[in-house]
Amino acid sequence: MKVLVINAGSSSLKYQLIDMTDESVLAKGNCERIGAGGHIGHKTADGRKIDRDVDFPTHKEAFLELVKTLTEGEGKVIDTVKEISAVGHRVLHGSEKYKTSTLITDQVIDDIFSFSELGPLHNPPQATAMKACQEVFGKETPMVAIFDTSFHQTMPPKAYMFGVPYEYYEKYSIRRYGFHGTSHRFVSKRYFEVSGSPVKGSRIITCHLGNGSSLAAIQDGAVVDTSMGFTPLDGFIMGTRSGGIDPSVVTYLMNKEHLTPDQMSDLMNKKSGFLGLSGISSDMRDLSDAADKGNERAVLTLDMFAYQIKKFIGGYMAAMNGLDALVFTGGIGENSARARWMICREMEALGIKIDDEKNPACSGKEAEVSAPDSKVKIWVLPTNEELLIARDTKELVGLK
Ligand code: ADP
Repeated sequence: MKVLVINAGSSSLKYQLIDMTDESVLAKGNCERIGAGGHIGHKTADGRKIDRDVDFPTHKEAFLELVKTLTEGEGKVIDTVKEISAVGHRVLHGSEKYKTSTLITDQVIDDIFSFSELGPLHNPPQATAMKACQEVFGKETPMVAIFDTSFHQTMPPKAYMFGVPYEYYEKYSIRRYGFHGTSHRFVSKRYFEVSGSPVKGSRIITCHLGNGSSLAAIQDGAVVDTSMGFTPLDGFIMGTRSGGIDPSVVTYLMNKEHLTPDQMSDLMNKKSGFLGLSGISSDMRDLSDAADKGNERAVLTLDMFAYQIKKFIGGYMAAMNGLDALVFTGGIGENSARARWMICREMEALGIKIDDEKNPACSGKEAEVSAPDSKVKIWVLPTNEELLIARDTKELVGLK
């Protein structure tokens, strides 16, 4: 039985077709430039590659092309679309309503649209893609929504409320939601499998560090706090996002630079973080290279990144009254030994000690990289959000 995993954006449709009998990826790719031309890039497990321009006026044409590519010609991996038993859709925002993954009905699609103010860039195209998918696959193919916010729904109010008048929580649902939930859930579950540690009584912090980054404090397997907030802008510096700053900086800068709310949002989301601070790049590899060559702003940016994360780790240790393990994942968390070292060094007083030989040698694979005498275990565990989406889809649809 095969599950199609869909990650839709406003102009793209990323997909993976996964065979759930052995959880192998049969094919994956991306339909890009939807609404502005169209291109499909498709790769099969045995190394065949397709790259072609196709006209995608809407997501529906992209789905039609995707089905054609999976079932015909050079990219073919299945004989008929009927082999796809179910479709799992990644969704950014499930508000407070969706605390777990959910079978998609018309009501669920309407709800996802209705949360558009909470996820303006993602929820509308994701709901649109679900409708297009239904038209192409027919209502007999079950679909499941997997929300980036749902794993964080176990947070207590003291962690998710902001210190603005309560009426804005009631009126506009303003609160901390947290994101990257699929990744935090995947690696936390994987931590319990690989370490053999019991879930009950456990206290771990998962660090998803990529272009966007967040930490989650997880007690007894459930999130008790997380660094992203009302939107994915909160927390610490990221590729192009500012992370948390004194809120007064926002009003001050808007006044001084005569910025509209949209321009200010653009500044904090797209021009800040690694890029805005270093003036070099939003990419960790470029910053590392520049720091090696002695670029002072690159060094400052890396120092800030590690320092801000350290403070979250310390805060979450206080919140949970201890820590068993720190788990690193995401492009930076899995691959940058330097970032892991900078974050973990000089935390011996908290029982955190990284191993200077194991850490640089682990090269993005599953590995424990803590020193033998580290009280807190440090793990590198690659994330696999698509697989979690496929597993949830399989379970909810009741596939054997
Ligand atoms: P996204 O959040 O878009 O999914 P990723 O999780 O792929 O992004 O993370 C991208 C980040 O990972 C970039 O900053 C990139 O520099 C960093 N990264 C990827 N590979 C390496 C590597 N080998 N060493 C250091 N950083 C890396």
